[in-house]
Amino acid sequence: MTSTHWLFGDQLGPGFLDGADGEGPARDAPVVMIESRDVFRRRRFHRAKAHLILSAMRHRAAELGDRVTYVRADTYREGLRQAVGGGPVTVHHPTSRAALALVRSLDGVTVLPPRGFLLRQDDFRGWAEAQRGLRMESFYRHVRRDHALLMDGGEPAGGTWNLDHENREQPPPGRRTLGVAAPYRPREDAVDEEVRRDLDRWERDGDVSFVGRDGPRRFPASRREARSALRRFLSHRLADFGAYEDAMLADDEVMSHSLLSSSLNLGLLDPVECVEGAEAAWRAGEAPLNSVEGFVRQIAGWREYVWQLYWYFGEDYRTSNALGHTGSLPDWWNELDADAVSARCVATVLRQVRDTGWTHHIPRLMVLGSYALQRGWDPAAVTDWFHRCFVDGYDWVMLPNVVGMSQYADGGRMTTKPYTSGGAYIDRMSDLCRPCPYRPDRRVGADACPFTAGYWNFLHRHRGRLEQNARISRAVHGLDRLKDLSALLEQERERGEGPP
Ligand SMILES: Cc1cc2nc3c(=O)[nH]c(=O)nc-3n(C[C@H](O)[C@H](O)[C@H](O)COP(=O)(O)OP(=O)(O)OC[C@H]3O[C@@H](n4cnc5c(N)ncnc54)[C@H](O)[C@@H]3O)c2cc1C
Ligand code: SF4
Repeated sequence: MTSTHWLFGDQLGPGFLDGADGEGPARDAPVVMIESRDVFRRRRFHRAKAHLILSAMRHRAAELGDRVTYVRADTYREGLRQAVGGGPVTVHHPTSRAALALVRSLDGVTVLPPRGFLLRQDDFRGWAEAQRGLRMESFYRHVRRDHALLMDGGEPAGGTWNLDHENREQPPPGRRTLGVAAPYRPREDAVDEEVRRDLDRWERDGDVSFVGRDGPRRFPASRREARSALRRFLSHRLADFGAYEDAMLADDEVMSHSLLSSSLNLGLLDPVECVEGAEAAWRAGEAPLNSVEGFVRQIAGWREYVWQLYWYFGEDYRTSNALGHTGSLPDWWNELDADAVSARCVATVLRQVRDTGWTHHIPRLMVLGSYALQRGWDPAAVTDWFHRCFVDGYDWVMLPNVVGMSQYADGGRMTTKPYTSGGAYIDRMSDLCRPCPYRPDRRVGADACPFTAGYWNFLHRHRGRLEQNARISRAVHGLDRLKDLSALLEQERERGEGPP
């Protein structure tokens, strides 16, 4: 009896059905897809994210036509019973621990290897066990060698592995936008309208509640759209990707970023086609090496590393809280109430999240994540917030990025020091500070920058731990030179959790 193949909502590209390397579903196997309402009932997702995922699933179902049984059910378990009874089922390894535990608990379900990543988990384990400490840079070189990516024989193309030092430019002075070609944006269709009507109805029935604004859809929902987005990025935007990768401009939220994360994480694009496309652009002389290496590093380095660490670190990683942070997220933050905020950086970025469900990596790390870290908010609640509010957020990608990289809750298993800064960094890397009512160089007083004051307050709170860390101990000792430290600590106690 042919097994039915189950496609999760983030397994939507052709690679999840092609049976390549003999480890996929049977050729022409019937397919089941399940829309579980409980997923949306359990958490308050950004509406644009719910819209994107459902639109992408329904677009895939329309492509598969009669081959697919598309089930709407409360739970996956119930949906599967409805679709296949007790018949045999195959499924590619899901991307979350909860979904993996579920499929493993079901009778008659065979779990096939994961798709959509470059390395197998046992290859990563072999690599990790041969290391003295886990560092992304060594992992990235391993992947480059293993996949012959940007390599000339045994050497890195261009003679160097890492061009990061060329990719930390401040934004060009006097410019409100970077001036690169606009990214691909999809056109909505009848499927999008149907999804929006369903979301309206769920909200009206009081069944489900969302946060954020939705529409028009800004990210690809089908393989065809995702391929167009990739092509446009490679031919019109990749060349400028590198230099300003870490910069922020209030009026140019996208700059030269690729906007491909949601397509990669829905399975609509495979990382191999992205990095090979970038390398081909460099070899054809269409993009400089710093941009191409920077982009390849994001996908073959960071994305892959994060995926592997999610599984490698184990289930307990999710509850890590090395700094003992227990603060709750305030309502204005939970509601994405950008209009209540005066601090221009937080207001600008929160507005981007409210309106699009996306910002690039520096606003995530050095504005949103840094603000939460300085205030001592519970890392599990911060992770949940990022997961719900970002169109590209999934359990596997959020845990290492938020618990590890952004909140340092793992005590340094993923990064060597906490990522946080005073206002001077934001001022250097953006045009956000000049019109802000706060001053980045002021730490005490009515115009004290919340990041500058928050930074010193954070170092003071964790002095005992952080002065042991060679990468940050000098900054910690700077506390001894602050004549106004007591006033600053008093001010931060009084500020409370209202919008900055
Ligand atoms: C606190 C925090 C939370 C984040 N949450 C997510 C998330 O939920 N989902 C997500 O895909 N990325 C996440 N990232 C990583 C990164 O911010 C986004 O991948 C990126 O901003 C997406 O925009 P882009 O596609 O234009 O990326 P680009 O800047 O164009 O980068 C190219 C690609 O590299 C990959 N990438 C780069 N860095 C990472 C990383 N750290 N982890 C995983 N992939 C990476 C993405 O697939 C991205 O599309 C997070 C980073 C931080 C600091
Ligand atoms: S002054 Fe401080 S709060 Fe205002 S934009 Fe700059 S970093 Fe943000």
